[in-house]
Amino acid sequence: MGRFYRIGNGRARLSPMSDTIFSKIIAGEIPCHKVYEDDLVLAFLDIFPLSPGHTLVIPKEPAKTVDVLSDESSAAIGRVLPRIARAVMAATGATQYNILQNNGPRAHQAVFHVHFHIIPKMEDGSGLGVEWKPGALDNEQAAALAARISEAVGG
Ligand code: AMP
Repeated sequence: MGRFYRIGNGRARLSPMSDTIFSKIIAGEIPCHKVYEDDLVLAFLDIFPLSPGHTLVIPKEPAKTVDVLSDESSAAIGRVLPRIARAVMAATGATQYNILQNNGPRAHQAVFHVHFHIIPKMEDGSGLGVEWKPGALDNEQAAALAARISEAVGG
């Protein structure tokens, strides 16, 4: 069960901290096929792989989505993600792969603890299938939107 916390206007909000099956894997209460571990990061094979070598890289910090992950954990993940991707490719013989990271149920997140999928794309077509329906970028709207995002990003 997720914890709840109160914000300024008194409404209860779901905690950005997760308490999931991945917390139990980190704690060693549930087994996994571990491929990498350091103080801040754990990586293990996905239990329902889309292709051989499908690996999950997770921060030990129990953040639900990437936007609430600390800079320290983000940096730790960024530091090892390419290395783990290289290792997955070396071990499986794959030369192409996707990195997938879902945030929120509508965005296909099923386990509410930040995780990055490394998914080899094999010659037989196994791996991640993507449905991509591009729209068109209106210049005026894009400029306004980019300005809003840029302001929100800050320094
Ligand atoms: P997502 O849809 O991005 O939240 O993906 C969650 C992933 O976690 C799925 O690909 C599951 O197969 C995987 N998963 C769930 N439970 C386990 C587990 N106990 N060990 C390894 N992978 C798991």
